[in-house]
Amino acid sequence: MRGRFAPSPTGQMHIGNARTALLAWLQVRSAGGTMLLRMEDIDTARSRPHLADQILTEMAWLGLDWDEGPDRGGPAGPYRQSERSDWYRTVISRLEEAGCLYRCYCSRSELNRLASAPHGLTGETVYPGTCRSLTPAEAALRKAAGREPALRFRVPEETIAFDDLVAGRVAFNPADAPGDFVIFRADGVFAYQLAVVADDAAMGITHVLRGDDLLDSTPRQILLYRALGWTPPVWAHVPLLVGPDGRRFAKREGALSLAWLRGRGVRPEALVGFLAFLSGLLPSPEPVRPTDLIAAFDVGKLPRAAARVEPALLEALAG
Ligand code: GLU
Repeated sequence: MRGRFAPSPTGQMHIGNARTALLAWLQVRSAGGTMLLRMEDIDTARSRPHLADQILTEMAWLGLDWDEGPDRGGPAGPYRQSERSDWYRTVISRLEEAGCLYRCYCSRSELNRLASAPHGLTGETVYPGTCRSLTPAEAALRKAAGREPALRFRVPEETIAFDDLVAGRVAFNPADAPGDFVIFRADGVFAYQLAVVADDAAMGITHVLRGDDLLDSTPRQILLYRALGWTPPVWAHVPLLVGPDGRRFAKREGALSLAWLRGRGVRPEALVGFLAFLSGLLPSPEPVRPTDLIAAFDVGKLPRAAARVEPALLEALAG
């Protein structure tokens, strides 16, 4: 088994990220597998090097370790997406050769105007296929207008189904939402969907455990695996932690960041116990170390419902 934690250093690590990291680590360690840490700093405009460093420090503070990663290297490196552009270009040319991509000249404002009501689990807008079958003359016209194209993946009209270790059987048709998706942005940034598949495949990842906010990305990623002739990993999408209002914690909110909790003197064992309790791994939020949870861990027994973080519980944690 090869698993990974793949944080984006675009905000402070909060308790939700810490919980995903803990569960991904437990899945790997309980199977005696290899744990990777990959820094998803592909969007250089939004990523911050000091946040990347802080994530490594806070992972270690939690008591989570990794066998391969940006700080320690390994056979599948580099482990920072910002250093893997050549590989993404190679993968894009393979997709182009297979006829899976087309150039899209739509601007953001055009897309906003064209978009119907948001669809899909995360409310993404649906691409109406404007540039899907441009004639060479139409494409030339748009190019002459100085537009840089994005690259979109041609999504077939087909239901994609997979068995998720936590969510169970999942099936939906990515042609309904979001439709043909971007894999290379007009501003020159490789899209998450492309980079994550290119990297999980190249790094030999067999098991992906991540938050279920990415559940509706998975059919798109399966399409990419298929187009490239690669085997997808086994997926486990864990329900997110939500606040008392039922909304999920946003990374940029700052509150409930590990930095904030550490600043209040919270011990790592207390936080791990709190996260384990919220994930159904402990009957009460007693302090524990991650290693104490390995023996009893079973990914198939993780609860399917979102874990609500009650204020009283948080107060008890944060003192
Ligand atoms: N980098 C993504 C995030 O921080 C996670 C990607 C993944 O696990 O596939 O949300």
